[in-house]
Amino acid sequence: KLLLEVKDLTAVIAESQLPILKGVNLVIYEGEVHAVMGKNGSGKSTFSKVLVGHPDYEVTGGSVVFKGENLLDMDPEERSLAGLFMSFQSPIAIPGVSNIDFLNMAYNARRKKLGLPELGPLEFYDFISRRLKIVKMDTNFLNRNVNEGFSGGERKRNEILQLAVLGADLAILDEIDSGLDVDALQDVAEAVNGLLTPKNSVLMITHYQRLLDYIKPSYVHIMEDGKIVKTGDSSLAQQLEKEGYKGISA
Ligand code: ADP
Ligand code: MG
Ligand code: MG
Repeated sequence: KLLLEVKDLTAVIAESQLPILKGVNLVIYEGEVHAVMGKNGSGKSTFSKVLVGHPDYEVTGGSVVFKGENLLDMDPEERSLAGLFMSFQSPIAIPGVSNIDFLNMAYNARRKKLGLPELGPLEFYDFISRRLKIVKMDTNFLNRNVNEGFSGGERKRNEILQLAVLGADLAILDEIDSGLDVDALQDVAEAVNGLLTPKNSVLMITHYQRLLDYIKPSYVHIMEDGKIVKTGDSSLAQQLEKEGYKGISA
């Protein structure tokens, strides 16, 4: 079933009106894992931020349909409630708010939207303890403040925990591999793999092929100057690893 359809999407930086996305086309079906690769500055993060409705960018053309609805009509919170999840490259710390309170709040907002009763602290603790096992995190993680004093690896894992709790039809993971050593990368990848079902999809943004050794993409896309210039299977990522971006001719 069709999940996301991006057609000729163009976007500018709101402040300067500088064009960044220059006609992106991408189709994602349920159960697929897509990787968007590309050189630094090619527009990968901008693309993911435009999808979640980041206010730094303005869409100037094209369309995005998510689960049959016009995504561009929704504000960021509506997009999240509709089942779109994004992990940010530099997640912010929220002083004074514990991880578990934050997750409980976000989870209840989701349940309310679905017409389900909210979970109280004890029920939520039960639920999240089970989710923690999937991402192999310790329960003491829950009492820490959101992202405060987290190591790079902990922060990435925490993003995956957020995904595990909230669930998503489409999870956008922007450089979850950046700054991770091989062990941490394997853990994070294993957690993502544990969350994959035939119903949900992942859009992974990455500069390096390494991540794709652990999370197998159905499709690999190369982004260049604000456009997807090439699409292939995972062998495209391997070709990239060998020949570099120069070896990929559009
Ligand atoms: P990537 O994630 O592929 O490295 P980005 O989407 O982060 O690329 O950036 C694409 C281009 O847009 C870069 O030249 C970057 O400097 C510019 N850019 C993106 N966002 C902003 C912004 N908010 N303000 C100014 N320039 C930006
Ligand atoms: Mg970058
Ligand atoms: Mg980026």
